[in-house]
Amino acid sequence: MATRINEQEVIALDGSVLDSQARTIMSQQKAVECMMPIKIPYKLVSRAFRAEGSSIVVGDALGGSLVAIGGSAPVVIAGPCAVENREQLLTTAHAIKAAGAQLLRGGVFKPRTSPYQFQGLGIEGLRLLAEARAETGLPVVTEVMDPDLVETVSYYADLLQIGSRNMQNFPLLRAVGRNSYKRPVLLKRGLASTIDEWLLAAEYIVAAGNSKVILCERGIRSFDQHTRNVLDLSCVPLLRKLTHLPIVVDPSHATGHRELVPAMARASIAAGADGLMLEVHTDPEHALCDGRQSLTPTQLTSLLHAVRLLSQTFHKEAYENDTFSHA
Ligand code: PEP
Ligand code: MN
Repeated sequence: MATRINEQEVIALDGSVLDSQARTIMSQQKAVECMMPIKIPYKLVSRAFRAEGSSIVVGDALGGSLVAIGGSAPVVIAGPCAVENREQLLTTAHAIKAAGAQLLRGGVFKPRTSPYQFQGLGIEGLRLLAEARAETGLPVVTEVMDPDLVETVSYYADLLQIGSRNMQNFPLLRAVGRNSYKRPVLLKRGLASTIDEWLLAAEYIVAAGNSKVILCERGIRSFDQHTRNVLDLSCVPLLRKLTHLPIVVDPSHATGHRELVPAMARASIAAGADGLMLEVHTDPEHALCDGRQSLTPTQLTSLLHAVRLLSQTFHKEAYENDTFSHA
């Protein structure tokens, strides 16, 4: 794996396959200025491997626009928890675009706690997502749960979501790492995962050949019943120090309540997040999944107005000193 930092080419090698003789020979090559061990367990995703933050371009599947996540302005991903039907999806897609969101989300393979709950529309839902992209130009994000479906989902989707419950599904991580369409991956934090476990899960994807990974904080389990999860916003500046990967926050799953989503979304931007993932439904009371935490399009519009204002004041460049000088 290679990356370019300023005028230097940095090549990462798996140390376990190099014996000491091979190391000596390599270090004596003219083109090799120095060899440095990366001692932390996650290597390719670490800041030690790539000092500059990565900006990942999403949106090359079957047309649609290109959106960079990790650039100078935060990106908003919005849409229903689940694709329910054509009318719901197309209406929502147009509404989130009008509100200023840049990517459309919608689950078609749903990881539900009970096998009797709505499981998603499957392949039919993927076709609807492609239709919504064709109508609006918005790139689409959807979850893939089965390694055998990675190629099919990659054909339709611009960004592959790995859900919280699958963050340590290693065959799945390898499969999205190898996807032949080179689709980027949105890796959600596991329900009870440490930051190191999360970064090592990202490392699996990058080590399998796909360096386009975006991390998504979606809250972690705790004991309080008032919120669905606990949003760990401190992970944003912490990850900024540890990794070059972009960081998106999902306040919908983190809180479980639409009333709490706007404040946590604004806080995420103030913490320096590269983007937000927000669940939106045109009729939340009748949503087949996660209606309680879904914003209406009107609520999304006013939230994104605030997000735009905040991001001008509090974007991540403002935090460079926080992150690096006190490390
Ligand atoms: C989702 O995004 O709809 C979802 C199931 O999220 P998570 O994996 O974070 O629970
Ligand atoms: Mn959901």
